[in-house]
Amino acid sequence: MIMIFLGPPGSGKGTQAKRLVGERGWPQLSTGDMLRSAISNGTSLGLEAKSFMDKGQLVPDSVVIGLISERIESGDCQSGFMLDGFPRTIPQAEALDKMLLEQGRKVERVVLFDVKDNELVRRLSGRRTCLKCGSMYHVEFTRPSRDGICDKCGEMLVQRDDDKTAVISKRLEVYHQQTAPLVGYYRKQGKLRELDASVQPDTVYESLIKALS
Ligand code: AMP
Repeated sequence: MIMIFLGPPGSGKGTQAKRLVGERGWPQLSTGDMLRSAISNGTSLGLEAKSFMDKGQLVPDSVVIGLISERIESGDCQSGFMLDGFPRTIPQAEALDKMLLEQGRKVERVVLFDVKDNELVRRLSGRRTCLKCGSMYHVEFTRPSRDGICDKCGEMLVQRDDDKTAVISKRLEVYHQQTAPLVGYYRKQGKLRELDASVQPDTVYESLIKALS
């Protein structure tokens, strides 16, 4: 099963994908996580990506297509995987279709996580992330047991530069302009399932399982 989780930043795609990794064992391929790990490893790709990410812009298609094409060839992706945050543009979607076709595979299901912009701003601006293990918290909804410290690994929590208010507006604008056209792209192919992602995470998870069955 090859699945795409599509939706604006803050719609909960990553959180739900992580839950499915735990329960179903499908690998989660998150280009955002791959880019952040390139940044923390100080690679030249990370350095290039950071300048776009800090401004809320998309990293060039060629960079993320390169990352994904390498990753989907790994052994753990042979029986399926979840794409979280990729594709984000029509050229990325076309490149993905092409690389899968060459391997005799195809995208089977695309799930759209639907949340209104004002709720996304509330979620993103309150989000705090552990720089070490990537766990996410929220200043209102999911507070850690000790303020500013990750429950899982004890590291400090930070607000990602791209979760700051000015950058959030840019990320949402980029989503509407460059990523939202993918809704039509996959709807035409009959692969799209939409779910209301503004409700409680457990309810979203139930809808997700239905959408994938
Ligand atoms: P995310 O964690 O998925 O919200 O991604 C954080 C940032 O990484 C985005 O705002 C982009 O700058 C960059 N990024 C992640 N995935 C992609 C992608 N598929 N195409 C271009 N840029 C991406």
